[in-house]
Amino acid sequence: MFNKKKTLISILAIFFVSFIFIILESKTENELNIYSGRKSHLIKPLINEFEKSKKIKINIITGKSDAFIERLKLEGKNTKADILLTTDITRLSRAKQNNLFEKVNSEILRKNIPSKYISKDNDWFGLSVRARPIIFSKVRVNINDLENYEQLANEKWKNKICMRSSANVYNQSLIAYMILNLGEKKAEDWIKNLVINFAKKPYGGDRDQIKAIANGECDITVANTYYLANMINSKNKKDREAAEKVSIFWPNQRNIGAHINLSGAGVIKGSKNYKNAVIFLEFLSSKKAQEIYSKNIHEYSIRNDVLPSETVSKFGKFKADDTKLEEIGKKIKIAIYLASKHNWR
Ligand code: FE
Repeated sequence: MFNKKKTLISILAIFFVSFIFIILESKTENELNIYSGRKSHLIKPLINEFEKSKKIKINIITGKSDAFIERLKLEGKNTKADILLTTDITRLSRAKQNNLFEKVNSEILRKNIPSKYISKDNDWFGLSVRARPIIFSKVRVNINDLENYEQLANEKWKNKICMRSSANVYNQSLIAYMILNLGEKKAEDWIKNLVINFAKKPYGGDRDQIKAIANGECDITVANTYYLANMINSKNKKDREAAEKVSIFWPNQRNIGAHINLSGAGVIKGSKNYKNAVIFLEFLSSKKAQEIYSKNIHEYSIRNDVLPSETVSKFGKFKADDTKLEEIGKKIKIAIYLASKHNWR
C-alpha cells in the first residue's frame, strides 16, 4: 500500500515537473523579439499574418534603426532581441560591420530571395526593394531634357534642384552609388556642382521635396517611389494635388540603371529564439508576405512572382543597378565625408 502511494506520488511529481517544463519550454519556443526600425503601422499586417499562421508570439519594439544598432552594441550577448528589421543598405552594412548579425543557412531564404539581395556571408537578407529615381515638375521640366543623375549637376539646372540633407541614409547610399559608378574624383565634382544647383537649403524628407516642386520652389528632386505612391493614395487632398503635379523619370537607363536600395533584416548574434527568427525571415520572403509589402507599403518585391501595387505599376518598368548593393555599404564613410566637404548638409 505504502509503495503504491509512493509510486503514485512519484508519477504525479514527474507529470508536474514535465508540465512546468512544457510551459517554460513553450513560452520560450513560441516567442520572437524584434527591434524594428520600420514603423509599426507598416509592419503590423505582416506581424498579424505571421502570428496567426505560425502561432509564434511577436514582441516588437519600434524606433530609430541607428539607435537600435547602438543599443545592440551595448547589450551584447545579453540582448533579448532576436531580429533587427531595418531599411537601407547603409544600416544593414552598419549592423554587419558591428558584428551584430548571425549567419543563417536556410534553403527557403536562398530560394525566395535572389542572391544579389543577400549579403555574401548570409547574415542579412533583403526583404523589399526601393527605387530612388528623379522626380520632376510636369509643368516646368521637359522630360527630354532629363537623362541621368550625373546631368543634374549641369549648369542648366541652377536653382532648380531640391534635395533632402545628406545626413539621411537614402542620399548617403545614392552618393555611394555615384562613387562606385563614376569613381571618387568624378563623384566629388558631381556633388560640388549639384549643391550649387540647389534651389534652397536641404530641409525635410522625400515627401517635402516633392511638395516643394508642387509649390514651385524647385523643379527636380530625387526621391523614393513609395513616397509618391503614398501621396497619390493619401486621404489628404493637398498631398494628392501635389503628387498630381510631378512625374517620375528613370535615370541611367542607357548605362548602369537607376539607384535602388533595400529594406531587410538579420538575426541577432546570440538570439535565444534563433529557430523562430529564421521562420520569421522565411515568412517575410514568402509570396503572401511579399504581396503585403507591395500592396500596403508600395515597395517593390524581392520576388519576380509578386507584382508592384497598381499605383507603382503605373511608374513603369525600369533598369536597376542591383549588382553591387553590398559594395554601397563600403562607400558610405567617404560619401558622408564628400557631402559634408561640399556643404550638402
Ligand atoms: Fe522612407
